Amino acid sequence: MSCLFCKIAAGEIPARIVYEDADCLAFADISPQAPTHMLVIPREHIQSLEQAAAEHAPLLGALMSAAATVARQAGLAKGYRVVLNTGAEGGQTVDHLHLHVLGGRAMHWPPG
Ligand code: AMP
Ligand code: ZN
Repeated sequence: MSCLFCKIAAGEIPARIVYEDADCLAFADISPQAPTHMLVIPREHIQSLEQAAAEHAPLLGALMSAAATVARQAGLAKGYRVVLNTGAEGGQTVDHLHLHVLGGRAMHWPPG
């Protein structure tokens, strides 16, 4: 198993875990782009949103729900952004589907 986020999920690489349930895990991004920057991943290895199948719809919903829980726990009452980079042009650098939860400052639009 060579996937970085699978190794984090397996406890083989340390991370600051902030949320976990049967299907999802959330931990602090190692290179935060906002005062709060968490990643929410499925325990199951799915390379990207492009590789997610119809059967993964409940899991994708669980990830969104986990992202909202993480934001609430972090006290992001004024708002936050959830990002899912997909593929090379989408800015994805780790090939294990993940949601970014960013908050603690005003976000800009359009994104870079
Ligand atoms: P993306 O560019 O959307 O694929 O996001 C990958 C994210 O993973 C980046 O924000 C990285 O800072 C983050 N990252 C890479 N390695 C680690 C790690 N060991 N622990 C936590 N976050 C990481
Ligand atoms: Zn993986």
